[in-house]
Amino acid sequence: MFNCPHCEKPGISPLRKAILSPGLIATCKSCCGTSGLRYSSWLTAMLPGSFLMIAAAFMESDPVVWSLNGIGLILMIIIPFIFAPLHKEDWWNLYALYSYDFFLPAKPVRPIRP
Ligand SMILES: [Zn+2]
Repeated sequence: MFNCPHCEKPGISPLRKAILSPGLIATCKSCCGTSGLRYSSWLTAMLPGSFLMIAAAFMESDPVVWSLNGIGLILMIIIPFIFAPLHKEDWWNLYALYSYDFFLPAKPVRPIRP
């Protein structure tokens, strides 16, 4: 289990962390707080695996291509799983991160929650 950034208790399951990517959130089993990955740390963690897969495209022999692709895929799962840190996240943060400012000249006011 991974520690939740809200309550610091182990509340995020390994499977959830493994399939987490920017724009998705994980919900803590202890406090129901939501957390996610930052795009920059996720992208950095994907670089070594991506590099191997791109290198595989320039190789001639099949075993080398399959090995590089296989290792690249494994690295693209394992490195973010271990090294990309969880951050506090809520739906409003996701909206603010991934909304298209170009189409929204003024950001809506954050609604007041009870
Ligand atoms: Zn929590």
